[in-house]
Amino acid sequence: QACGDTGPGRMLEPAELARRVLGGADERSGGLLRGKRVVITAGPTREPIDPVRYVSNNSSGKMGYALAEAALRAGARVTLVSGPVSLSPPPGAEVRPVETAVEMLSAVEQAVDEGCDIFVATAAVADYRPESCAGDKIKKSRGTMTLSLVRNPDILATVAARAEPPFTVGFAAETRDLAHYAMDKLKRKKLDMIVANDVSEPGIGFNSDRNAVIVFWPSGQQSIGPDSKQAIAERLMALVAKHQTQD
Ligand code: C5P
Repeated sequence: QACGDTGPGRMLEPAELARRVLGGADERSGGLLRGKRVVITAGPTREPIDPVRYVSNNSSGKMGYALAEAALRAGARVTLVSGPVSLSPPPGAEVRPVETAVEMLSAVEQAVDEGCDIFVATAAVADYRPESCAGDKIKKSRGTMTLSLVRNPDILATVAARAEPPFTVGFAAETRDLAHYAMDKLKRKKLDMIVANDVSEPGIGFNSDRNAVIVFWPSGQQSIGPDSKQAIAERLMALVAKHQTQD
């Protein structure tokens, strides 16, 4: 460890040490997802305009990272396909970093092909990307500038449309008619479960540490929170585990 960072002798992160000592699943979660393979998308995507500029959004990735941690605590094997965020991944998760929606789709398809029981899409995927990325930095000119955008693939709908899809869970951030839009998305994208949150409420949801959600599945619904994203994630993964085994 003369280099200071890597190599034999480096101690595990304390949280990873605790997880391994506890056997991967903590008491409260009771190993509900033991042996299950969970793929989670998190964070924003970044759609390049030129070598130094991009279109993106404010997603922090906190909900997806909290769900990855909750799934690990419940005993699952977790692949986290993550857009650019400033969070440390939970120890034990296999992180596949991506930037664009197209890269995220390809990383997700690969992870699902490798084996996936549950797919949770928390990423705030950009709906559109610039039609082309300029090879050189775009110079300013006098007039206005128009950016032509094209639709990005819908990662969640693509996974749910597979011949043998995993149990798919989507998120719906809405500012009104929460139940109506969430149920519509559940049916349209052929999901098993959708987690809806009202992003018009200040202090919760997008880019915050707290959240309050209503979870819908074809035959029922349940409200969770307001609470920390960690507490919401734990209850959500328990609900997913219950419904996944009923399928
Ligand atoms: O249709 P809408 O974008 O509101 O759907 C949100 C859900 O779909 C989220 O679960 C999000 O992660 C997922 N999504 C996706 N790929 C897209 C757009 C949204 O996976 N291109």
